[in-house]
Amino acid sequence: MPCKCSVPACRGNYDASNKVAVFNFPNDERLREKWLHAIPRKDFNITKNYKINFSIGFFRVCEKHFKDGEVLRNSTFYNEKTGETISAPVKRPKLKENVVPSIFPGCPSYMSSSSAIRESPSKKRQRLEQEHIDLAVKESLNSKHEYELKTMFTNFAEFRNCIKGHSFSSFWIVV
Ligand SMILES: [Zn+2]
Repeated sequence: MPCKCSVPACRGNYDASNKVAVFNFPNDERLREKWLHAIPRKDFNITKNYKINFSIGFFRVCEKHFKDGEVLRNSTFYNEKTGETISAPVKRPKLKENVVPSIFPGCPSYMSSSSAIRESPSKKRQRLEQEHIDLAVKESLNSKHEYELKTMFTNFAEFRNCIKGHSFSSFWIVV
């Protein structure tokens, strides 16, 4: 029976169409803790008193949660006699040392680290547009404030200052 991925919302190895390589949790306790922290799964929440003594061997993480280059799919062999490096795909991909799963598609963004989420081009355009709108709103608010400062007066002297820079239509008689 193939081992299923334990990451929420991941269908890794659930059926034949989702066939992926799965990896056991690392034996190293500190690295294992990093994995448990990284994976957005409720029952993986670790408190200080929590002991990782549950059957961790039951859980697997599939290759979809690792960045390119973190999964070693080829084994290279250097032939000293010929000076050739032979590379061949391996049956069972391996993980690089000390890597931690970081990609969790389908999980709410607050659950996975922000660096893991790549912004789609359309999302990016939307964000940039919003930033432009925000800036324009801010600028117009600023100029409104400036305008108000220029045209507001609390006494006669200020009033005179205000009308100094003003051109009045011939309708008004300025005294
Ligand atoms: Zn998975």
